[in-house]
Amino acid sequence: MILLDYIVNLAIFSLLVSTPLVIFSFIKFRPIKLIRLWSSLYAGVVSVILVLLSFQQQGYSYDIRYAPIILIFAYLGPAAGLITGLISLLTRLLTSGHWYPAIIGWGFLMIGFSVIYFYTKRLTAIKRSFILFAAYIVIYGITVFTFNILVDNPIFHIQYILFVMLGVIIGALLIESYMKLHRLNTRLTDIYRMVEASESKYRLIAENTSDLIMVMDEKQAVSYFSPSHEIVLGFQCCELESLELCKFIHPDDVKGFRSTIKLMFDNKESQSMEFRLKHKEGHWIEFESRCVPVKRENELIGNIVIISRDISERKQAEEILLRSEKLSIVGELAAGVAHEIRNPLTTLKGFMQLYKKENSSIDELLLNELGRIETITSQLLTLGKPQAMQLIRTNILEIIEGTLELLAPEALMSNIQFKLDYEEPSYFITCERNQLKQVFLNLLKNAMEAMKDGGEIQINLRRGSEDECIISVQDQGCGIPEELLPRLGEPFYTLKEKGTGLGLMISHKIIKQHQGSITFTSKENAGTKVEIKLPTAS
Ligand code: ADP
Ligand code: MG
Repeated sequence: MILLDYIVNLAIFSLLVSTPLVIFSFIKFRPIKLIRLWSSLYAGVVSVILVLLSFQQQGYSYDIRYAPIILIFAYLGPAAGLITGLISLLTRLLTSGHWYPAIIGWGFLMIGFSVIYFYTKRLTAIKRSFILFAAYIVIYGITVFTFNILVDNPIFHIQYILFVMLGVIIGALLIESYMKLHRLNTRLTDIYRMVEASESKYRLIAENTSDLIMVMDEKQAVSYFSPSHEIVLGFQCCELESLELCKFIHPDDVKGFRSTIKLMFDNKESQSMEFRLKHKEGHWIEFESRCVPVKRENELIGNIVIISRDISERKQAEEILLRSEKLSIVGELAAGVAHEIRNPLTTLKGFMQLYKKENSSIDELLLNELGRIETITSQLLTLGKPQAMQLIRTNILEIIEGTLELLAPEALMSNIQFKLDYEEPSYFITCERNQLKQVFLNLLKNAMEAMKDGGEIQINLRRGSEDECIISVQDQGCGIPEELLPRLGEPFYTLKEKGTGLGLMISHKIIKQHQGSITFTSKENAGTKVEIKLPTAS
């Protein structure tokens, strides 16, 4: 029957130990102040229950109340252990006799446990519990022999010690497993928090960058598009995912793109490339990309991260730089040439004036034209340097009419008609008259030269936005191939046998100095339209 009693005791003990641990594992653990006091009191209550469940053997009462005491000493130290011990002793004394062995044994155990705790502070709690249990056996044995308690029944004592040991083992295992679970749980919560924080950080970067971030898997399919694709390319990410990447890449760049990716899979090294991607509205945007391979454990490439940046603006700036550099060279050249022309021109003009005095019938027009050549050459001379312009408020219509007048004889010979249309009789702008005349002269001359078989040149004047006027020159000439349009305005760019390729370049520069813009639209064999926008004077 003793066995059954012990088993009941053990079962109830494990239930009492595990109950608070289970409750603790469900509620969010917060460090409780006075945890030692409360635990020792609870362990005291457990020992009271164990004492109440004790059984009698030849006038002596037996229970496993020392299991919770050992555990409290091992896990929470002597102060808590003494509280539990005291509660259990009082209950023991109240419930049965043989006080002396109980009190003296208790006294030795408390002193022994406290001393052992002091010396085993550095050990783990579980090791300490077993050392305390060993001390318990020794002190128990001494008490049994000192008070001659059932000495002739060693089996009973062995059984008793075994059950206390089982109690300690079960209790320690329960506490250890709870603590392990708790540690794991805190670690998991920490890891989860860390992952969440880093994920939100990366999401923040990916969602708010203007760079395009793509992740390509080993099958060369894109598995991730950053949300910036929506802003930069106009496509929703889900639209991009459903379509093949090469459909967005400019057909001329697809081959280069594919070979770079292939090279990366072979060499496993980062690569840079440039390609154009299509915007939802149809135009192409130039990107510079850095592709970084991400290796798997087996050293093969698992993913490729492609980070692309819009470089249209940079390209434009580079082009402007190139153009301005060319311009400065041309300016220097032009200055030299103009200088060479001006000297004989001055001599010629001087002689001409001298000749006119003697022979007054000399054509006024000849002198006028010579004067014009002179102004043009001096303009060329100053082209290299920023010019101090003489800005005068002028009706641009007058300048155009004057230019047309100048070109009229040549137009007549080439069977070309000018058609001038304007919405208002005057468009006042602030300008350097001779320079603007030069621009229209260049444009109209180009138009005439493009119309070998004659035709009509339409000149239109209208108001654009409030403080802007637009002058357009439309011819019916040979037109300009589309791929050559961006090159217009480059110095020495000409398709004509006797052309200089300077006309449009000078025109560009003059219009720019007037804070205006000049654009060309052309259709081959149908004609070219030049549109100039200039700010109007108030
Ligand atoms: P040039 O007239 O000396 O050739 P420009 O700078 O005036 O130099 O013009 C450059 C080139 O642009 C021309 O050679 C011609 O091919 C082209 N171009 C300019 N305007 C027209 C036009 N109206 N129609 C056809 N081609 C044009
Ligand atoms: Mg020309």
